[in-house]
Amino acid sequence: MVQPVFRFAPSPNGYLHLGHAFSALLNLDMARASGGRLLLRIEDIDRARCRPQFEAAIFEDLAWLGVTWEAPVRRQSEHLEAYRAALERLEARGLIYPSFETRAEIARLVAERERRAPWPRDPDGAPLYPGDAKRLSLAERAEKIAAGAPFALRLDMRRALAQAGALDWSATGRGPAGETGTIAAAPQAWGDVVLARKVTPTSYHLAVVVDDALQGITHVVRGEDLFWSTSVHRLLQVLLGLPAPTYHHHRLILDADGNKLSKSTQATGLRELRAQGVTPGEIRKLVGLQ
Ligand code: GLU
Repeated sequence: MVQPVFRFAPSPNGYLHLGHAFSALLNLDMARASGGRLLLRIEDIDRARCRPQFEAAIFEDLAWLGVTWEAPVRRQSEHLEAYRAALERLEARGLIYPSFETRAEIARLVAERERRAPWPRDPDGAPLYPGDAKRLSLAERAEKIAAGAPFALRLDMRRALAQAGALDWSATGRGPAGETGTIAAAPQAWGDVVLARKVTPTSYHLAVVVDDALQGITHVVRGEDLFWSTSVHRLLQVLLGLPAPTYHHHRLILDADGNKLSKSTQATGLRELRAQGVTPGEIRKLVGLQ
């Protein structure tokens, strides 16, 4: 039997809170229970928001919690070449095109369309790409890029679906509506997703898929807020010829008002709780683990 490989993949853009503790401990417990390995990945692609002190705090807080991981830690910012190579493979299949609208222009286009009918939103609530950059000629694209225009590199969803065919994934946890077992993927709900930008060489979706494959991850255990993103991940895996991990999306830890925890909320930050004398064992109980 192949040894299971799990990963915890936080972004160093703030301090860890109870939600991260739950995710990391659940990964640890599941890895231990199955005789598996646990890897740590630092998802620091967003250079504007990630800080070295948050990364240092992640190591410290996880060690305090009793989470152990294998070296080396994979830091996404050190692997931009791998993401670029994956993007080039999609490009070679005619699946990537640049769009040049600013965020304000996109908002204006959406407002214009919405005067006629509601415009579709993605599962995160953002409007689907309303522009028609796909129709620009190669010469027009080259001209804009040469002139220094900012751009987003998008996946041509219709073509991608035509190449990939029907997709599903195998889930051991429960999705937001209780989904479990074999889940039919619906990447079309995301429209022409952005996979990179002029200034950011990869999106979360592309980096996570490339890294899960390069690290040999067999089990992805993460919050159910990423349940619908899995559709895009499966599509990219199939297009890039990468293996499919099993997915386990877990419940989110909510605050007293039922809201998702934020990295800036002091009340549930692991550092604050530790300073108040809360023990790692009590953190486990707080998040509902044995
Ligand atoms: N880096 C993501 C986060 O901190 C997690 C990505 C994943 O587990 O797929 O929310």
